[in-house]
Amino acid sequence: MTTADIATLDPAQMTRAQRAVLPLSADVAQALAEQHGVCIRPLAMRRIDTSTGRVDIVPVPCGSTREDQCRPCAEKARRLRMAQCREGWHLDTEPVTDRAKPGAEHTELMATRADLLAAYAECKTTGDELTCEQIADSVAELDTELRAAGVRGRLTPLDPPPKPVKRSTRRRQDAPDLPRRPVEKRTVGRVFAGRYRPSTFLTLTLDSYGRVDNHGAALDPDRYDYRRAARDAIHFPALVDRFWQNTRRCLGWDVQYFGTVEPQKRGAPHFHAAIRGAIPRAELRAITAATYHQVWWPAHDQLRYTDERRPVWDIRAKAFTDPDTGTPLPSWEQACDQLTQPAHVVRFGNQVHVKGILGGTEEAGRHIGYLTKYLSKSIGHAAGLGEHATDAQRGHAHRLHAELRVTPCSPRCPVWLLYGIQPKGARHSMTPGRCKGKAHQPEHLGIAGRRVLVSRKWSNKTLDDHRTERGEFVRQLLLDVGIQPAHGPQDGPYEWERPAPTDPDVPPRPVLLLHAIAERQRWRAEYTAAQLAASDPPLDNCSATSDQAA
Ligand SMILES: [Zn+2]
Ligand SMILES: [Zn+2]
Repeated sequence: MTTADIATLDPAQMTRAQRAVLPLSADVAQALAEQHGVCIRPLAMRRIDTSTGRVDIVPVPCGSTREDQCRPCAEKARRLRMAQCREGWHLDTEPVTDRAKPGAEHTELMATRADLLAAYAECKTTGDELTCEQIADSVAELDTELRAAGVRGRLTPLDPPPKPVKRSTRRRQDAPDLPRRPVEKRTVGRVFAGRYRPSTFLTLTLDSYGRVDNHGAALDPDRYDYRRAARDAIHFPALVDRFWQNTRRCLGWDVQYFGTVEPQKRGAPHFHAAIRGAIPRAELRAITAATYHQVWWPAHDQLRYTDERRPVWDIRAKAFTDPDTGTPLPSWEQACDQLTQPAHVVRFGNQVHVKGILGGTEEAGRHIGYLTKYLSKSIGHAAGLGEHATDAQRGHAHRLHAELRVTPCSPRCPVWLLYGIQPKGARHSMTPGRCKGKAHQPEHLGIAGRRVLVSRKWSNKTLDDHRTERGEFVRQLLLDVGIQPAHGPQDGPYEWERPAPTDPDVPPRPVLLLHAIAERQRWRAEYTAAQLAASDPPLDNCSATSDQAA
């Protein structure tokens, strides 16, 4: 019997099993919301129109980027990233305009600030706390004025932090064996044959840790180098950073990129990037081969403590100590002082894929889709660790996770205590070996940093700028054909309140969802009407605009 057949029965005569397969009303509302691309777990917010006094409870999208949490929101976020990627990839003009020259007003304020800073330092040395406080207040006022006058960037703080200890030149690692050119202030690629301005698609991978099967599971888990795999995964973002520094220095211009970090099936991160401008394949290969990142951390090869025998916090010494002898463990600074070699060095593997791609082509679109394909999936899912994973795959992920659990993720990581070293900022509340860092969690496979890495001058817009722009585009389209959007800039300004769930005007979630769906349908209808009414752009040529409506 199908669910539809059961539904025709009288509920009073159904068996418990038959009733159990009937859909819940809440599930129906959720499925409907998904169909309409409406957030399935919206937050109810009270919106107060301060000019008309009208009060509404409106659903505010959750904004998740993960489809296992909210598919419609994740899909929206992914599309926004696609738009961001497309916008910067084949730019033919510099996206960054020069800053305005500081005016007389700015320099005067700055000069006054400098005088106050000098006076503050003087009072500080004489111990005149009262005057110090007064000066601090004036400086705070001045800073507000400076910001209001449009000054950006860091302003010198009243109490400068202590200077960091200089590393010896022995540890310099920023000079790989590459040609070095001064970096021009240019981010746009070259033109070929007078009209072609190709850009680049690049894929960087890590080295092999042992042979794997078709699903990425180690063929011989005992010989697969899980330790190096774990460390490489944790330090991968630093390696990618180093790569871009080297690329800019070696090529001599301000190379811009939109990149994503994704897991391979074997669990190792790899990096895809859309790069603006053409770069010779041989040069990218040479830069990749020469790039490395040294981790100047204390050695962490031998576990000295276990869960059964852990270092203990000593209140008087304010330090972690050996449980048997009571001797304080070396502090982070002490352990780093004696280093003669890095604890780990990360490099890329031999596989470097480089492809030249022309803007506006089908190929460009395909690669943008490829770059953003897994963004809405969790790391584990993207690596194929879903419900269909093989036993070997699960076993492989398990071994990798076991290694990640004992691999420190940062200088502040409590895992250091297992190696007999106090992490930076060690304190009483730390539990040796227990770190909340994402890198240690099984679903992240050591990939804890950001999934999308975009250089600053890619489109010179933040994600919020892109989002606003898309909204503006639709609004303009409606206005052009004389459709007044239901909520336009003429409404508001609004005030927002978070209602308590027990407030009588907060509807149950299914009602909130249906409300959002109705709103969405009305909005769609307006948009379609506008498209029909507008003769330009024609309907059969609106791939960019259908994106905007999504
Ligand atoms: Zn959502
Ligand atoms: Zn950690």
